[in-house]
Amino acid sequence: MKNPLRNIRKNPCIQVWGPGPAGTKCGSCVFHRFVGGGTKNYPKCEKRYFTHTAKSDHSSRFPTCGRYEPKPASAESKTAKNVSNKAKNVS
Ligand code: SF4
Repeated sequence: MKNPLRNIRKNPCIQVWGPGPAGTKCGSCVFHRFVGGGTKNYPKCEKRYFTHTAKSDHSSRFPTCGRYEPKPASAESKTAKNVSNKAKNVS
């Protein structure tokens, strides 16, 4: 039997757990993380079935589902710091 939460182009978790708070994105959820898949890291949601390939990728831009839990403020600022450091390295 195929898992219904696999390989869908919009946030499939909303069908299961309902929508999350308005205006929030999965990238700010504590369950959203990146998994190493060899040469690349893949964005995943810990609450859904996933493989170590791009087939079960979970975009950080998806609107959130009912299981949404915001990341701690320190993790948010750490991510923002990494992004700003990458921007510095590019220029
Ligand atoms: S809000 Fe969190 S639990 Fe829900 S789909 Fe997004 S990352 Fe997964």
